[in-house]
Amino acid sequence: MRIAFVSSEAVPFAKTGGLADVSGALTKELAGRGHEVALFVPRYNGVEDKAEGVAVLASNIAVAMGDRTEMLELSGVKRDGVQVYLVGHDGFFRRPELYRDPSTGKDWADNDERFIFFSRAVLAACRHLDWIPELIHANDWQSALLPTYVNTLYENDSEWAATRTLFTVHNIAYQGMFEADTFGKLGLEPGLWYPGGPFEYWGKVNFLKLGLEFAESLSTVSPRYAEEIAGSNEYGFGMEGILSRRCGDLTGITNGIDYDIWNPETDPHIAARFSAGDPAGKRACKEALQKEVGLPPSAHPLIGIISRLADQKGFDLIGEVSETLLSRDLQIVVLGTGDAKYHELFDALAARYPEKLAVALRFDNGLAHRIEAGSDMFLMPSRYEPCGLNQLYSLRYGTIPMVRATGGLADTVEPYTPTSGTGFQFETYAGADMLDMIDCALATYRDATAWSRLMKRAMEADFSWPAAAARYEALYNETRSKPKRAQAERNPA
Ligand code: ADP
Repeated sequence: MRIAFVSSEAVPFAKTGGLADVSGALTKELAGRGHEVALFVPRYNGVEDKAEGVAVLASNIAVAMGDRTEMLELSGVKRDGVQVYLVGHDGFFRRPELYRDPSTGKDWADNDERFIFFSRAVLAACRHLDWIPELIHANDWQSALLPTYVNTLYENDSEWAATRTLFTVHNIAYQGMFEADTFGKLGLEPGLWYPGGPFEYWGKVNFLKLGLEFAESLSTVSPRYAEEIAGSNEYGFGMEGILSRRCGDLTGITNGIDYDIWNPETDPHIAARFSAGDPAGKRACKEALQKEVGLPPSAHPLIGIISRLADQKGFDLIGEVSETLLSRDLQIVVLGTGDAKYHELFDALAARYPEKLAVALRFDNGLAHRIEAGSDMFLMPSRYEPCGLNQLYSLRYGTIPMVRATGGLADTVEPYTPTSGTGFQFETYAGADMLDMIDCALATYRDATAWSRLMKRAMEADFSWPAAAARYEALYNETRSKPKRAQAERNPA
C-alpha cells in the first residue's frame, strides 16, 4: 500500500513528545511489512543533521495558500526503508522551537499558516512526485487539514479518488484553535463556513475538529483513551460530541515501543547492560545514576520521573503530599521541562531535601535512558494519558511503574498481586490515593523475592511495534474500503 504518514515530529528528526517516537517507529515497521511508506515532517532548524544523506529534491514547488503562493523546498532521505520527506520553508520552520516562541512562551502567532502550509505542501509534493498515496495517515492538529483538503478541494479530483484518510489523536487537549479569519487562509469556498458546520467551533476554527470531521477513520493511542474521549467532556475537551457520533469509526490502538532504542540489553547510554534473565547490571545503573544526579548512595528505592511538566501529568498531586512523601525511605529523581510552577516546585523540594530529591530541568535523552535503567520505580500520576510511553520503557527496564489508572496507563500496567501484575495503580485523582499506592509499592519492595518476581514479569511484558503495526495495517485496509467521507456525509446510511 502507498502510505503517506504525516506528522509534525518524528524521531530522529524532531521531538517534543511521544508523537515523535510513534512516527519514527511505526513508519519503520510498516515499511518492514512491505508497504511503500513516505514520512512527511517539517524541515525545522537542524533537522538535516539528524540523519546522513539528506538531499534537496526540489526547490520551487508552488503551494497555494488562499490568495497567495508560497514556495516549498523538498528534501529527502531514505531511512530504514522509509522515504522521509522534509517539508522545507525557512520562514515557517527554521525557528528555535517547533510550536512555541521561546521569547514570549506563547505559541507562534502564525501557527495556523505554518500548518496550513505544511498540509498543502504535502499534497503539492505528492503531485510533484507523481506519487499519490492510497492512504494518508494524519496525526494531531498539525496535520489534521489533510483529510479536510482531500475531502473538500480534491473531493472530485480523479487523481485523489482512491485516497482515504486516517486521523490519529495522540492528545486531544492540543487542538490548534484559531480566530475565525483563519478560515479565509484555508483557500476553500466561503460557503463552507457556517455556524454549526465542520469549520466553525464556537466562532473559531479548530483544526483538530476538522480532522475528526473529515477523515474516513479515526483512531487514538489506547482503547481506554478512545472510550474516555468519546465519553465525557473531562477527557474529550469539547470533542466528545463528534466522537460519540463517530464512535463506529473510532479505534484505540496501543502504541508499541522501539526495542532497538529502549532495550537494557543493548542500550549504549547506560552504565551496565542487563536483562530479565540477568538483572544484576541494574544495581550498577542505580549507583551510577545516584552519582550523576548528586544523590548519596542509598539502598532505599529510587523513584524516577521523566516528563513534560504540564498540568496533564499530575505533578500537583506531588505538591499536595510532598512533605509526607519525602518523609518516606526513598529517593526521587526528576527529569523534565515545562510550566514554571513545576520547575519551582521541584527546585524547592530539591533544595529542601538534597539527600532525597534531585532534579534536572532540561530535555536530555541520555539521562532519560539512565533514569529508566537506574530507578527502581517510575511515577506517572497523570490526570489523563492517551497512551504514555515512559511506563512501557520502565517495564522493559524492570523499573516498576506506579500510575494513575487512566488511558493507556490503565491499559498497559497490570495491577500487582502476589502472583501477577506488572505495577501499581491508583484510581481517584487525589494526593492521598497516590500516596497509598506509593506506600503499597514501598512495602512490596521490602520483600526482595516478591520484588524480583515482579521485575521479571514487568521485563517480560511485550509492547513491541509488530503487533501494533499489524493493527494499523488492518485499520488502513478497512479505511480503504470505506466510501470517501465527503460522500458518506452526503448520503448517510
Ligand atoms: P507525552 O507525549 O505526553 O509527552 P509520552 O510518555 O507519550 O508523553 O512520551 C514522552 C516522551 O518524551 C518519552 O519518550 C520521554 O522519554 C520523552 N521525554 C519527556 N521529557 C523528557 C526530558 N525532559 N528529557 C528527555 N526525554 C523526555
